[in-house]
Amino acid sequence: MMTSPHTLRSLPALATTLALAAAFLLPATTAQASPVGDLQSTQASPSAAATDEATHEKKSKASTAERDYAAYSTDATSPLVLVNEHHPLQPRDYAPKDLVAVSGNGTEMVPRAAQAMKKLIAGGARDGQRLMVVSAYRSYAHQVNLFQRYTRKYGEDYASRISARPGTSEHQLGLSADLGAASGQCSLKACLADLPSGKWIAAHAADYGFIVRYPKDQQETTGYAFEPWHLRYVGTKAARQMEQDGVATFEQYSDDLVTARKKQKTKTSEKEAQASRQEAEAERQATQDKAARDAEWERQERRAEETRWWPDWARNAFSQ
Ligand SMILES: [Zn+2]
Repeated sequence: MMTSPHTLRSLPALATTLALAAAFLLPATTAQASPVGDLQSTQASPSAAATDEATHEKKSKASTAERDYAAYSTDATSPLVLVNEHHPLQPRDYAPKDLVAVSGNGTEMVPRAAQAMKKLIAGGARDGQRLMVVSAYRSYAHQVNLFQRYTRKYGEDYASRISARPGTSEHQLGLSADLGAASGQCSLKACLADLPSGKWIAAHAADYGFIVRYPKDQQETTGYAFEPWHLRYVGTKAARQMEQDGVATFEQYSDDLVTARKKQKTKTSEKEAQASRQEAEAERQATQDKAARDAEWERQERRAEETRWWPDWARNAFSQ
């Protein structure tokens, strides 16, 4: 009683008894401060888990984008690989693992391109256009021979304009084929474009996942004059996308793809930066909240200490 506040002296004995009872109840009252701590920890853990999850998701997305990018630039087994004078095959003497026959004349392509080409030929036949594959897969050794023959005949400069240097031919991918009218008319000639079969090819190639790889007036980009017969398999998605967006060359399409992926990467890193800013802000807010809660807890604790011996009615009256 010696430590009780002086205000208690004026209170009746009953009140003192009540105050004693209250003293036993008070620890329970102050204990109510601890749920605040629990609340803090329950608030903290789901947000921490969410952050972990988000980081994990970001990581897996980034690695997928990187894999696609690598596939575009170097993977000769990808239908989206870009091969031209400036982008030789890697390795230069690459040969596909699987090659299957496209038609009876010994021409071969990689399985999915061969399957698509067979469908294209069947589609042409349904529309009354009899088409045939003139040339499809050509090995590195074949291209070496061809190029040497042309070089001997016309000189290297001209040879490089009419034939791909070894290791830079799409035919070596097993994804390209030279197509023509079954009649042989305008075979490997620009006039194929004016024949009904050439027109049919131009109009329907994309439906089967092919593009006319060296279009008219695009020599500066592709390195080749117009070849209405040379089809390259890129898959229906890319072929249709090029057609819809009016992208003339595969060089352009590849550039767009790389740009889009770079943009996506930048966007991802921007998102990451934003997320870490938000994280820092949340942390700052949490620290502030905790300080406020601690201060409040201390205030309540002090008050409880001061009014430890007060009856409820007196405590209530005082606080009002
Ligand atoms: Zn060709």
